Amino acid sequence: MATLEIKDLHVEIEGKEILKGVNLTINTGEIHAIMGPNGTGKSTLASAIMGHPKYEVTSGTVTLDGEDVLEMEVDERAQAGLFLAMQYPSEITGVTNADFMRSAINARREEGDEISLMKFIRELDSKMEVLEMDQDMATRYLNEGFSGGEKKRNEILQLMMLKPKFAVLDEIDSGLDIDALKVVSKGINEMRGEGFGCLIITHYQRLLNYITPDFVHVMMQGRVVKSGGAELAKQLEESGYDWIKEELGIED
Ligand code: ADP
Ligand code: MG
Ligand code: MG
Repeated sequence: MATLEIKDLHVEIEGKEILKGVNLTINTGEIHAIMGPNGTGKSTLASAIMGHPKYEVTSGTVTLDGEDVLEMEVDERAQAGLFLAMQYPSEITGVTNADFMRSAINARREEGDEISLMKFIRELDSKMEVLEMDQDMATRYLNEGFSGGEKKRNEILQLMMLKPKFAVLDEIDSGLDIDALKVVSKGINEMRGEGFGCLIITHYQRLLNYITPDFVHVMMQGRVVKSGGAELAKQLEESGYDWIKEELGIED
């Protein structure tokens, strides 16, 4: 079992404190969801975990099996087994999707232990089938001209191919129609298991109809203010966030 631990994390953007002491522990084998109103720092948390330069960690720790993640460069975080799906995946010109994934897989392997082309292609084909993706998605340039839905599917394809220990998926559901949402959920559910832990960040509950989280956390004003099981997401869907504010005496 591996553990990703976030302790009393404080993060600033351009001198403004956004995260005000986030605590969260995720083990492999667990799926966690973070929900919360817009602007409460959910994406900031994702970006800080992955080392986006704009986000300054002023105090607190993020560790992966005791190793200091915050000391690692972005590529070292990926090496260590972290995967971050961006809210707005970027385009990379001149690299095909398949090449990108193969080099990302090999970057995480020892020299001499690279994945064979045959094995890579076989695996890619089977995962693309699960995600109901067109074969030509593999040979297209990464994210170039991909529709919003294609980008999301492709991120899940990357996730399934890279097999990270932990994934942080920020609004992987935004802009997806119901069919794409189901397919994306299918991919994440396939990843579910002992060697994989996931933090799903979402503003809406609907994704969690397809991926039942083990734990649900509510983030407000830069902190995790409430945690529970899958039923908490349902409660939020029905009643919104106001009751939590009242319960905890949080002012807008
Ligand atoms: P959420 O994902 O919960 O909607 P964010 O983490 O995106 O929230 O944003 C939290 C707060 O930080 C918001 O007040 C937002 O305006 C601010 N913020 C986010 N990104 C930036 C940025 N790049 N520059 C300045 N302020 C930002
Ligand atoms: Mg936002
Ligand atoms: Mg966000």
